[in-house]
Amino acid sequence: MSDHFSTDCAHAGEDPIPSESTPAVMPIYQTSVYDFPDLGVVDGVWEGRQSGYIYGRYGLPNTFALENIVAKLEKGEAALASASGMASIMVAFSTLLQAGDEVLVAQDSYGGTVSLAARELTRFGIATRLIIDSRSQAVQSAIGSKTRAVVVETLSNPLWNVVDIPALAEVCRAKGVRLLVDNTAATPCIVRPLELGADVVIHSATKFLGGHHDVTAGILAGSRDFIAKARESQIRLGPSLAAFDAWLTVRGIKTLALRMERSCANALKVAKFLSSHSKVARVYYPGLETHPQHEIVRRTMGGNGGAMLSFDIDGGILSANRFVKNLKRIRFAPSFGGVTTSITHPAKTSHRSLSGVQRGEVGIGDALIRLSAGIEDADDIIDEIDAALQG
Ligand code: PLP
Repeated sequence: MSDHFSTDCAHAGEDPIPSESTPAVMPIYQTSVYDFPDLGVVDGVWEGRQSGYIYGRYGLPNTFALENIVAKLEKGEAALASASGMASIMVAFSTLLQAGDEVLVAQDSYGGTVSLAARELTRFGIATRLIIDSRSQAVQSAIGSKTRAVVVETLSNPLWNVVDIPALAEVCRAKGVRLLVDNTAATPCIVRPLELGADVVIHSATKFLGGHHDVTAGILAGSRDFIAKARESQIRLGPSLAAFDAWLTVRGIKTLALRMERSCANALKVAKFLSSHSKVARVYYPGLETHPQHEIVRRTMGGNGGAMLSFDIDGGILSANRFVKNLKRIRFAPSFGGVTTSITHPAKTSHRSLSGVQRGEVGIGDALIRLSAGIEDADDIIDEIDAALQG
């Protein structure tokens, strides 16, 4: 006679565990599907009349928790979490664009965004034009009859140009074009593009929102209508965010304000130190008064230039390599936004797909170093950089 051994195994862990107390932190809902008591509830949940979840790709409690907090921080009506920053950008494109349309992308955007637009969208009949000048007048003249969207970054990587979002938003609104702003590098601690007139905010939550170099995630924020359409698109395309990654990102966000406060203060101190260093030819940091768009930083970002900066070391690639090899605790890692200070070499990493001539045109030299300031003691970061430059 069967002792139900196999059946008991198959139903392992299903008995409810009663509790009068509640978890202090949202648990990780590691389930890909929900059970329904009857067909009426299926209809109710599917049609949004009853609360409930359906299936992982449609969203889980952890992804909704992340979406709610980012919508709140970015002052959007709603948000949508995706499996990476690139997934979020693709979902935004697929929501807004169709064959025959055109998208304008700032040339100094993240290389992945540029190649997604230039190499993938074009295969689906969506034209992409790169704009070298993101100032409002130049964008106004670049917008054509087929343009549906303009994509810019609040602080663009690695030279940290700053866009004037209110001015761009005015131009885009007048032309009936959507303005998409990637706010990954600045974060809502510094600027909230939706409040300044942008239509959609994009984040690679892999960076400052997650904040610990241990999660890959993306998020869009915007109007309820846009996010509802983006969610439908994402459900069809498939790049939903896993529960654990959403949970990690929410945990990162709990310390976002504190981390950014320290990282931005550290970045400013490092930028000031490097500005007068004999081995440094040039510093790129929007928080310095000498930065060409510092006026926009003062007007739209409360004067805060963010936690990222770049600098040209005197000499060429050999000086850059010597500097990288001399570093001890500062890591050479091709990402940014973590609690520890990290650097990269844009010519060898984020911009290696450009030719030397193209890199020269955008101002990315062989001795350019990009630095993401962490939350360590500023003096320790500065001492290590100084020693590596002198060594
Ligand atoms: N946007 C910016 C500004 C980025 O720097 C990156 C990645 O570095 C992305 C988007 C893409 O994000 P992810 O790597 O999470 O796909």
